[in-house]
Amino acid sequence: MARIFCIANQKGGVGKTTTTVNLAAGLAKVGQRVLMIDLDPQGNATMGSGIDKRQIEFTVYDVLLESATVAEARITADECGYDVLGANRELAGAEVEMVSLDRREKRLRTALAAVGADYDFILIDCPPSLSLLTLNGLCSAHGVIVPMQCEYFALEGLTDLVNTIKQVNANLNKNLQTIFLLRVMFDPRITLQQQVSDQLKAHFGSKVFDTVIPRNVRLAEAPSFGLPGIVFDPAARGSQAYSAFAQEMVRKLASAGTEAAMTPVAA
Ligand code: ADP
Ligand code: MG
Repeated sequence: MARIFCIANQKGGVGKTTTTVNLAAGLAKVGQRVLMIDLDPQGNATMGSGIDKRQIEFTVYDVLLESATVAEARITADECGYDVLGANRELAGAEVEMVSLDRREKRLRTALAAVGADYDFILIDCPPSLSLLTLNGLCSAHGVIVPMQCEYFALEGLTDLVNTIKQVNANLNKNLQTIFLLRVMFDPRITLQQQVSDQLKAHFGSKVFDTVIPRNVRLAEAPSFGLPGIVFDPAARGSQAYSAFAQEMVRKLASAGTEAAMTPVAA
């Protein structure tokens, strides 16, 4: 059955989408079967996987409102090597439309049950908020990957996210047990970034991935070609880091077994 991870951080522009599409492509490259779900109405992960968000027939919106199944709505991103459950602006309305529905936080989880055996990993790119959409992601997941920039305010907001995860774990989804931090857009020449990076590692230990993603312009250029950096320019430093990250992820889960690797959330 698929291991399901949300890529979440309620701040915008911190590298969630870049991490999601590159991790999806990196996992696919080492033979993992991957479904990437775009839960952000901006549809950046959809476009960044080479799928035109304006042209797709069914999106995650239809899945949440039960007008399509995941099997009907998923699209294979051929060049990227993974499947996509896309999103576009329509998804912004889902939040309001779901308010009056029953099991509104568990709609995605219910829908994913039918395709869990088709994948090794399901990755969910969350919007920059702790909204009902993000809650649907968290209710479906075993773990959360939080991309963070090593800046002074990096930890601000992490407490809210951790508290939300704890509440979801206690009340809605006992399988949600892991939080991992990934240092992204790292510039080692900046002393403060080095200090914050060291502090993160010291404080959170094995919850912080060893791999650090550098700031690299090729990663920022790739989306305009509809490709993850890993596919667009595999030799770029940023792409190599994301490849290493995907391999670290596989190792981390394999070495301890899924359950043991999913240590209780604490921060
Ligand atoms: P989010 O999904 O959290 O809003 P994005 O992944 O869209 O964040 O990243 C925000 C911006 O930063 C985008 O323009 C993206 O291309 C760029 N970016 C992300 N990661 C890197 C990186 N490692 N190096 C350079 N630019 C990056
Ligand atoms: Mg995004």
